[in-house]
Parts: sequence; structure tokens; C-alpha cells
Amino acid sequence: MRIVVVGASLAGVRTVQGLRRRGSDAEVVLVGDEPGTRDGVAADRPPLSKEVLADPSTAPTPLAGPGALADLDVRLVTARATDLDLGRRAVVLHGGEELPYDALVLATGSAPRALPGLGPRPGVHLLRTAADALAVRAAALPGRRVVVVGGGFIGTEVAWTLHAAGCPVTLVEPLPALLLRGLGPQLGAALTRRHVAAGVDVRLGVSVASVEGGDDRVTGVTLTDGSLLPADVVVLGLGTVPATDWLAGSGLDLRDGVVCDERLAARGARDVFAVGDLARWHHPRYGEDVRVEHWTNAVETAGVVAAGLTGTPTVHDAVPYVWSDQLGTRVQVVGRVRPSDEVRVVHGDLAGPFVALTGGDGRLSAAVGVGAARALLPYRKLLARGAAWDEAVGAGA
Ligand code: FAD
Ligand code: NAP
Repeated sequence: MRIVVVGASLAGVRTVQGLRRRGSDAEVVLVGDEPGTRDGVAADRPPLSKEVLADPSTAPTPLAGPGALADLDVRLVTARATDLDLGRRAVVLHGGEELPYDALVLATGSAPRALPGLGPRPGVHLLRTAADALAVRAAALPGRRVVVVGGGFIGTEVAWTLHAAGCPVTLVEPLPALLLRGLGPQLGAALTRRHVAAGVDVRLGVSVASVEGGDDRVTGVTLTDGSLLPADVVVLGLGTVPATDWLAGSGLDLRDGVVCDERLAARGARDVFAVGDLARWHHPRYGEDVRVEHWTNAVETAGVVAAGLTGTPTVHDAVPYVWSDQLGTRVQVVGRVRPSDEVRVVHGDLAGPFVALTGGDGRLSAAVGVGAARALLPYRKLLARGAAWDEAVGAGA
């Protein structure tokens, strides 16, 4: 039995580790093509917008160090997968080599979006890989003027980190608040106020019209309201797209990710699974297909597929969880905030450490904590067992 795992970042590496931990004696092959590495294995991404950016003495941490995969008897193939032949059950690698499989795990994650119409150019950075983070760190020396575009997780973390490191930072977001999608309008506005109070120049309701400068450097960013922001460094945090390009035409259902059932088996294919950012699966708890681009989900999906491949079929019904370190504190979201949700602060207040619940129609949808990890814990448990809104709100009383 040969299991091929394509993508050597968090979800792929955790899958091969999980297979061995569960006693699989299959032949396991891991295909990796992380840009900027020699072996194709990625570094852990969360520190890349936090400690690695803030501290020149902090190196990125590879997800599997030298020898670790060999110790697990996992064969690492450093190559890009370019095609999948479902009929012949083979992955095609760059150069034409074919890798036959008995079971296939797709773990190619997601790739950052660029500004429409703007190709790669000096001074304009994406942030996904360790090489990206080191390039931003080298460019954003204290005092350099930084414009961050996109006020989601990457944008807010990078803006805060570089601001704290001594760069004047402007953060540009087209929506009316930062972190709006992750936290909803009210809590997004609370976090926006904190960024402004901390000294980040936040520009809402505008986007980028053009990036100014020559072939060798950036000098500024012109916004859609006509204002010109002088800049030495531009960092984009504009969201991602699932890395399904190499699977086009394979016959897999690719609608914003690889569409899977609740056990992460790809629809319309036998013995093919998807994990991590790439997987769009039918979530039994929500009754709809979801895709979750967070660290914990990559680990959980790897566990679900490793369990399934070692004889313990498992449904992936975990409540989504994400953390973000910014503003000198930790933001945590358990569940999914819906834009129309009612918000109730059940611990602290929005100007300091707090826990807020969000929900509607009698149901609790999420709990959001800022600097309040311990106070958040009971709500995490309530969400896991699907507690009603009244019970959750009453729990803190
Ligand atoms: P990815 O990490 O995207 O990895 C996919 C891998 O597959 C890559 O190595 C890629 O090069 C490779 N690949 C792609 N196509 C091919 C191909 N055709 N052939 C071979 N290989 C291929 N989440 C949190 O919850 N909290 C955080 O604080 C947090 N911080 C983050 C900070 C940064 C800067 C970033 C970028 C993400 C952060 N995340 C965080 C999100 C989290 O890191 C991701 O959800 C996680 O990395 C997803 O893992 P993955 O293995 O599914 O995909
Ligand atoms: P994101 O959270 O989806 O945020 C992207 C932001 O950029 C959105 O607010 C988006 O607005 C905005 N945007 C899009 N196009 C724009 C444009 N042309 N001009 C200005 N703003 C624009 O994605 P991300 O912050 O780039 O993060 C990438 C991935 O890494 C995500 O999967 C994220 O979950 C993950 N990540 C997670 C963490 C964490 O969890 N702590 C940290 C870093 C990264 P619209 O919503 O209007 O499109």
C-alpha cells in the first residue's frame, strides 16, 4: 500500500506523522515544493507575521527538521505536482515523472492573492513563506515607511508588529472596519479603535489605485480616494486562493477548494482526501460546506485523514478556532461570527481584556476573547456541545 501526500506544510507533515503514530506500515511519500527552501518543506507559518518579523534573532522553524522524515520512514520528494490522473491513480510531477498511489492526500494549501493588475515588483511583498517573512524583515528596518494593504489577519498582525518595531505604518482596508470578516462589525470596530489608539494610521473604506516608484523601488501608494501615502515598503494581506491550479481538469470537484464529504474524502473520487486550507468539506455541525484557513484546522484535518487511513473512519465536526497575536495581546475566535449576529460582552469590556459572545435565533455562534484565554475556556466547551444562546449568556452571570 502506498500513500502519497502532496504538499509539505502543516497539514501534509501532520498527516504523515499521524499515519506513523497510528501504526501505519504503508509506504508513505511526501511531495513538497515550498518556495525558497531546498527540501520543499515549509516552516511553521504563524511566527512569520509575529516573532520572526519582530526579532532578527528569531529564525523560522521548519515543520520537519533534517532527518525527521527519514526517521519516520517517509520518503520526501522535492518537486512540484503538476497533474493528477484519477483513472490511473497517479500524481504527475514537474518533468513528467509519475507517482502511483493507493491512497492520495491533497495538502497544497492556499496561495496569497496579489493586487489586481500588479505583478511582482521590488518593494511590494506578499507574506506566506519563511523567505517572504525574511524579505519583509530585511526591508522594513526601523524608520522605514510601511503601507500594509488588507486589514484581515495578516494585515493587522504585520501592521502591529512593524509598528512596534519602529516603522511608521499605514494600514489600508476597503471595508468599514479591520478584521470585519473574522470578528463581525462591532468587534472589528473595537479592534480598529485599538490599532488607531496604538498609533497605526488606519485608512478604512479605501483601496489601492496604484503603486508608485520605479523598477527598483517603491516610493508610495495612491489610494482610491486620491491620497498619496509615501512608502518604502508595501506588504499585501489580501486573502488567499486555494492551490487547486494543478488539479484543474482532473475531474475533482473544485469549487473554492477540493470539495469533500464529512470524512474529508474528495467527492467523485476513490481513495483521495484533502486536508488543511485546501479542503472544503461538509461540516455536520453547520450543515453546509466550509473551508477553514487556520492552523488548528490543518492539524485536525490531518488527524481525521490519518485516522481514516488507519482503520478508524472519523467525521470532522470540530468548532473552528483561530488565534492572532497583535496589539501586545492575543485575539481568539472559537466558532464562526456571522455578520448579523447579536454581540454580548460577558467578561471585561471592549476597551480592555474581554470575552464577547455572538449569536442569533437562540443559538450561540462564536466566542471572541481578547487577552482573556482563561475566561474564554468555558465558552469553548459550550460551543463544542452546541449550547443555546441563553445558556451561554447566563453561564458567565
Ligand atoms: P499551506 O501552509 O498553504 O501549505 C501548502 C504547501 O503545499 C506549501 O508548502 C506549498 O508550497 C505546497 N504546494 C502547493 N502546490 C503544490 C504543488 N502543486 N506541488 C507540491 N507542493 C505544492 N493560523 C492560525 O490559526 N493562527 C495564526 O496565528 C496564523 N498565523 C499565520 C501567519 C501567516 C504569515 C500565514 C501565512 C498563515 C497563518 N495562519 C495562522 C494560517 C495557517 O498557517 C494555515 O492555515 C496553514 O499553514 C495551512 O496549512 P496547509 O498545510 O493546509 O497549507
Ligand atoms: P484575510 O483574513 O482574508 O484578509 C484579507 C483582507 O484584505 C480582507 O479584509 C480583504 O477585504 C482585504 N482586501 C482584499 N482585496 C483588497 C484590495 N484590493 N485592497 C485592500 N484590501 C483588500 O486574509 P489575509 O489576512 O491575507 O491572510 C491570509 C491567510 O493567512 C488567511 O487564510 C488567514 O486566515 C491566514 N492567517 C491567519 C492568521 C491568524 O489566524 N492569526 C494570521 C495571518 C494569516 P475583503 O474581505 O473585502 O475582500
